[in-house]
Amino acid sequence: MAHIKSFPANAPIQEAIGFPGELVEDWHDKAIAKMGDLLGKYRSLKVFMDACVHCGACTDKCHYFIGTNDPKNMPVGRQELMRKVYRRHFTFAGKYFPALVGAVDLTKELLDEWYSYFYQCSECRRCSVYCPYGIDTAEVTMAGREILDTVGYGQKYTNEIMGKLHRIGNNLGLPGPALEDTLQGLEEDIFDDIGVPVKLPLDLEGAEIMLVTPSADFFSEPHVESLIGYAKVFHAAGVKWTLSSTASEAGNFGMFIGSYANMRRAALRIRQAALELGVKRIVVGECGHAWRVAYSFWNTLTGVGAGGEDPFSIELQKQLDPRYPAPQHICEYTHDLIQQGKLKFDKSANDHRTITFHDSCNVARGSRMGNTPGGQFTIPRDIIKAVANNYYDMAAETIGEGTFCCGGGGGLLTDDLMEIRVKGALPRMEALNDVVKENGVNFMAAICAICKAQFTKVVPYYGFDMSMIGGVHQLVSTAIVLEVPEETESAEEA
Ligand code: SF4
Ligand code: SF4
Repeated sequence: MAHIKSFPANAPIQEAIGFPGELVEDWHDKAIAKMGDLLGKYRSLKVFMDACVHCGACTDKCHYFIGTNDPKNMPVGRQELMRKVYRRHFTFAGKYFPALVGAVDLTKELLDEWYSYFYQCSECRRCSVYCPYGIDTAEVTMAGREILDTVGYGQKYTNEIMGKLHRIGNNLGLPGPALEDTLQGLEEDIFDDIGVPVKLPLDLEGAEIMLVTPSADFFSEPHVESLIGYAKVFHAAGVKWTLSSTASEAGNFGMFIGSYANMRRAALRIRQAALELGVKRIVVGECGHAWRVAYSFWNTLTGVGAGGEDPFSIELQKQLDPRYPAPQHICEYTHDLIQQGKLKFDKSANDHRTITFHDSCNVARGSRMGNTPGGQFTIPRDIIKAVANNYYDMAAETIGEGTFCCGGGGGLLTDDLMEIRVKGALPRMEALNDVVKENGVNFMAAICAICKAQFTKVVPYYGFDMSMIGGVHQLVSTAIVLEVPEETESAEEA
């Protein structure tokens, strides 16, 4: 699959996020130096380079290998692209007896292969679950991409989005006034639909909660249905909440670029907005990698540690609510209210749906929910079962920790990678097909904007209707029962 290549970024895109505009002349030396730098910084990377015993346990665990049969899409094959260069430059045997230990120099041809295959990995971590040494190919991929960026060989899709986020505040480039308009329109739609003045406030100072959510939630189907669901939950809870016009994006493509500096800059933007609005808590919407970054990295990315003085330090959030260190996932928030009996549902409103749930890889293997191990698997399912009558899981080996990536995660959600996206979706589509045939499933819920966007594009290739894809809070939105006030004639008036 070496022929599958996404478009490289041009100079303005690269330079906007701190990388050289084009392949630098001394790219070889720079790449090796960067590799040395990363090996020194991330001990795990060095362990991953040294520890593989070529046992083969991971070979058939990657959805891109299953979909393409290309040995370089085996996790170990992907690692080997970097490992053979590592051996050449960072091991004694590789320096002096390269042919004996399979060590090679980094040629331009090999650099091109890196570009192809490190963008045919969605950083989903499935392979690491099956590796007896816990080798995480996602980290190798991130390192590979960071080296590529450093020498001026970045990917257009991810890097352009990163720049847009820094410049405007969200991945779509939606400016504040347009966002305000959109939210107003949604309030009117909800009022027309159910007669309840559900608000979607923007930049509301002193709110208790600031919601950060993927910007896809603001305007495209099926994502927007989940945003309406969050708003209805906040309304039912009677909580003051807000969105921010300057931090209107939960997604953090710094993770896909493999750039800690960019990931940090994006995280600090959210922190800054929360401080300016004076909120007590940040809640993250249905976005897989945003939750992975928020849950696993925010406390260190913001650079303030757990000292207790910063409002977003984990220690302080624990004092506010010991069950939830900051931030909180919208599913945790809704689940909590359900457990307390604070939300009312008419489950029959979802009776036209027979539902299954796709565990998004960044939530399943990169983060957690709630205060019990495995909460990230039970919480969304509990919510679905609280709001709908007909639910069926897909085959056990394809869900939970062993879930298959949608095929479009990790910076692959671009049309120039459609071939690998369709092929990489194969294992998930096969599992879906089984549950459709056996149980008549007609709706697959996910809590990740990338999963939803990927599935709506690829399910038609497998003979399904794209309308079968949606969010967990879309189901919540359908079933939640809100009190209809008397004598209110419009959303604006309310
Ligand atoms: S896509 Fe997932 S399973 Fe495949 S190599 Fe990358 S991290 Fe491993
Ligand atoms: S499972 Fe682990 S040790 Fe075995 S080949 Fe794969 S990466 Fe190497």
